[in-house]
Amino acid sequence: MSRAALFLRKRGIHPRLAAILVGRNPASESYVAGKRRAAKSCGIDSLLFRLPASTSQSGLHALIGRLNRRRDVHGILLQLPLPARLSAEEALVRISPEKDVDGLHPENLGRLAAGVPRFVPCTPKGVLHLLDFFRVPVEGKHVVIVGRSRLVGRPLALLFIHRNATVTVCHSRTRRLAQQTRRADILVAAAGRKHLIRASHVQKGAVVVDVGIHVSVSPSGAKRFHGDVSPSVRRAAGVLSPVPGGVGPETVAQLLANTVRAAARCLAAKHAGSFERSHLHRL
Ligand code: NAD
Repeated sequence: MSRAALFLRKRGIHPRLAAILVGRNPASESYVAGKRRAAKSCGIDSLLFRLPASTSQSGLHALIGRLNRRRDVHGILLQLPLPARLSAEEALVRISPEKDVDGLHPENLGRLAAGVPRFVPCTPKGVLHLLDFFRVPVEGKHVVIVGRSRLVGRPLALLFIHRNATVTVCHSRTRRLAQQTRRADILVAAAGRKHLIRASHVQKGAVVVDVGIHVSVSPSGAKRFHGDVSPSVRRAAGVLSPVPGGVGPETVAQLLANTVRAAARCLAAKHAGSFERSHLHRL
């Protein structure tokens, strides 16, 4: 159990995450199961709400509304993607910004842009945590991010700017991608294109973080995971984060940290200071 969760539980607050799964997407099922297992091991309770793929937008909003009102639920996770008929944008904006542990509500993204973050999206937060853990200096470095999604590339660019890096964001309309990526001291691949980044995209000795996840199944049924970075990059890069086992587990860890943060908002004022001093800076 995490020490921060234990601190809260001893004071009668049981951190609780509610996950919403719409339809039957095998990858989403496995991500949510993994997040719930990790939550349990850290002392965070989790609830799973399954909605059929035929759920209406208003049905999904009604569930989010109920979870917003529940005092015993501190974090709400809407597992994406949703079935094509449903709008993730409209649903995400219904989640209370104070329970938005994925950090995707416009208010939380706006706070991040303004430099006063509340919940930071989990994958970008995980990328920074990974670099910090391995003591990779960020300040003054040239960071190139391939991908500008709301989930990863865009908030990650903001985090790097706040850490005084010089940031270039590339995307599907970027011309001569390799020319841009070869200028990177730190290169982050988050394009959702298997093995897009090859050795020729990387400056010798660069730090390369692979956010991509692609699953292939062999004829024998064995699953293999691949990233956005080709294995050939290992020769050129100074450091390369693995897939699986790199940004993926970091993302889960940051979701749990955000959930504990959300639960800590329920602490009585007399305990809040002590929590802030001992635990908040680690989350
Ligand atoms: P997305 O499809 O929403 O965004 C992809 C971005 O990459 C877009 O901005 C697009 O412009 C850019 N892009 C696409 N093709 C490109 C190309 N050829 N050259 C340059 N830019 C290109 O994807 P996303 O949600 O940001 O996810 C990106 C990848 O990260 C996916 O593989 C996803 O599975 C993975 N992911 C992993 C985790 C994790 O926990 N490790 C979490 C979220 C996403």
